[in-house]
Amino acid sequence: MKGAIKMIVLVLLLFVGVPLVIGMSAWNASREDDTSDYKIRTPDKVKVWISEEGKTKKIDFEEYVLCVVASEMPSSFEEEALKAQAVAVRTYAMSRILKYEETQNETHKEAPLCDTVHCQVYKTTDELVQAHGKDWKNSGLVKVKKACAETEGELLYYNKKLVTQPLFFSSSGGQTENSEDVFSGEYPYLVSVPSPYEDGAKHENEKKTFSFKEVENKMNSAFSDRETGIVGKSNIKILSRTAGGRVDRMQIGKSTYKGTEVRSGLGLSSALFSVVIKENGIEITSSGYGHGVGLSQYGANGMAKQGKNYKEILSYYYTGTEVF
Ligand SMILES: [Zn+2]
Repeated sequence: MKGAIKMIVLVLLLFVGVPLVIGMSAWNASREDDTSDYKIRTPDKVKVWISEEGKTKKIDFEEYVLCVVASEMPSSFEEEALKAQAVAVRTYAMSRILKYEETQNETHKEAPLCDTVHCQVYKTTDELVQAHGKDWKNSGLVKVKKACAETEGELLYYNKKLVTQPLFFSSSGGQTENSEDVFSGEYPYLVSVPSPYEDGAKHENEKKTFSFKEVENKMNSAFSDRETGIVGKSNIKILSRTAGGRVDRMQIGKSTYKGTEVRSGLGLSSALFSVVIKENGIEITSSGYGHGVGLSQYGANGMAKQGKNYKEILSYYYTGTEVF
């Protein structure tokens, strides 16, 4: 009788247990492979156009990511902010590489990426150590290395497609911008969001004064397609603002300028500014530093201090994106 029970148990195990185990592992595998049809593998090496030397350099891809993160974000920032920056930098590089394979870049035909702000700032570790001092090699650099290693190969996706514009900037002054309000393109993940945790950000309430004549000269030399005429008290005013609160259009003399044009023409840190008309000129107060679209670096640092991880930071500033 005992032998018969053993037999039944064995048969049950074979017919129910084994298929169940096989089924479970297949189910687990398919769960793990969920992203396999769209997850992109990063290359081992990347070509970078070194603009000052006028030649390309082949670099280990993750070494490139490390050097850009260390060049673009202070290593004193929180680890989760550095990790978010690493994913953004890696994603930008990957998207340029894929684009380069389709259409050769006009500015630097020899390589998909260059080492300046045109793409992303890339300095070698030697240059970085020279800039930050020897001690940085054992502190800051180690910290950035860890952030890059812990996100190795990870990229940002929106709707199962690689994000092509993981834009970032220093600080927002409290609110980021819709991409189309600053640049020409509209992207569903580059939408205006509040950025409340930017403690320690520089360029807050930055004041600059200009005489009317200075405004006139600066704008005329920056934009030869328009003439300001004589600028005075009565013909300088903000006409409209963007969703993120930055200056959208501004009248200066007899012409109209975009907020971003005023920012570059007058050398302001941000297009988030107010204007006070004085007796002989204007006083401009601006907040934030950079274009305001995508990830705010100080905002990311603030979110990390609030206990958010890099994936939460990225899906917040790049609305609706995911990291794989
Ligand atoms: Zn470039």
